Amino acid sequence: MSIFNDNLERLKEIQVLGDIGDSEMKILLEPAQVNYLEIDIKGKKYPAWRIIYSRAIGPGKGGIRYHQDVSEDEVKSLAFWMALKNSLADIPYGGAKGGIKFNPKEVNQTELEEISRAYIDNFYPYLGQDKDIPAPDVYTNGQVMSWMLDEFEKKVGHHEPGMITGKPVELGGIALRGDATAQGGYLVTKELVNKFLPDKKDIKVIVQGFGNAGLFMTEKLDNDGYKIIAVSDSQGGIYNSNGLNIKDLIDFKKSGESVIKYKGGKVITNSQMLELDTDILVLAALENQITEDNAKNIKANYIVELANGPVTYEADKILAANNKIIVPDILANSGGVIVSYFEWAQNKTGQILEEEYLRNLLEKKMIGNWGKVYDQYVSYNGKITLRQSTYLIAVKRILAAEKYRGRI
Ligand code: NAD
Repeated sequence: MSIFNDNLERLKEIQVLGDIGDSEMKILLEPAQVNYLEIDIKGKKYPAWRIIYSRAIGPGKGGIRYHQDVSEDEVKSLAFWMALKNSLADIPYGGAKGGIKFNPKEVNQTELEEISRAYIDNFYPYLGQDKDIPAPDVYTNGQVMSWMLDEFEKKVGHHEPGMITGKPVELGGIALRGDATAQGGYLVTKELVNKFLPDKKDIKVIVQGFGNAGLFMTEKLDNDGYKIIAVSDSQGGIYNSNGLNIKDLIDFKKSGESVIKYKGGKVITNSQMLELDTDILVLAALENQITEDNAKNIKANYIVELANGPVTYEADKILAANNKIIVPDILANSGGVIVSYFEWAQNKTGQILEEEYLRNLLEKKMIGNWGKVYDQYVSYNGKITLRQSTYLIAVKRILAAEKYRGRI
């Protein structure tokens, strides 16, 4: 199953809805630059990519993923979504993504550092604060960003903290980055509830994926009184119809255990969990979780995509036919890149901004972006999905930038 083909199908719909000509559309169908090579560490080979999808609005921007299933199709799709996400969020970036195909759970810290530094040794000519700016993604974190920054600065011979975001504060990162994606997702989920479920009490939530995005999101919803009935990680899920004790479960997960070892609920598989009865389903793991095979069994009326691409194109159509509302990835998880933008701007100007000011700015941006998407959705009288509304806004801004550049 090609994720990128799904994107092309979605673009075809947007072309019709947005009345976009073929020559304009052509510019969106191919990435601007694909870099691929095999990182060689003592004879062991690691396939690695850095793909810039668009440079229309600004330099490349997007995370680096470490996972055994990383492929060119996946990195290209993630880079495409970054281009749309940055455009929708109104921040001055194109879109990019990187990845290395290996299982990070099978290497020790020394090997992880070697692989991370080798990635930069190979790709550094294409990176930089005004060329392409990486960040963390699945199984990469502040430590990995630190090694990468250090290696980059060794190569170029000067300090350039703005070449990467998601760094620890000691290296020019900002405190907000840790839970930014979850905070953004939480803010749009509250907007969703205000619009679609204003009077509902005891809202039930299920969260797939209990890492950076999913865990913090669960914590925020729990603090607000939502009833979290199931969560999962790569090992499986844990379910309690009366609601899980989230504070306890988070402490347990942080001790390094899988949620399935937690005693406060029933162990279920990830696929069983997706089909449970709930109000909101938060997808915060990986792509292709809801497909044409399980879409018809989804009971949640509202889906929030904190992960990138968790619902396939075919599944989208089935869910829409069943009146399910999806808050799409390029809106729901954009808090991460918006705060990355704050970090980058701070690194470039040298000005340090107060955390409270940045938190307010993030809130204003997320709610403003939700508003643009929702208002357009309403203006179509329910004839488009929220995803189509986000794509229309994002694609039009990229094409306007390309037109000013004279490429159209
Ligand atoms: P992470 O590595 O911190 O966590 C991933 C979580 O998903 C882990 O708990 C892992 O056990 C779980 N998982 C893996 N495979 C699973 C499966 N098959 N079923 C259920 N759970 C599974 O990663 P993250 O940063 O939280 O990223 C999660 C998703 O959010 C990704 O799609 C990522 O691209 C997206 N995202 C993250 C950020 C961010 O700032 N962290 C920003 C935007 C988008």
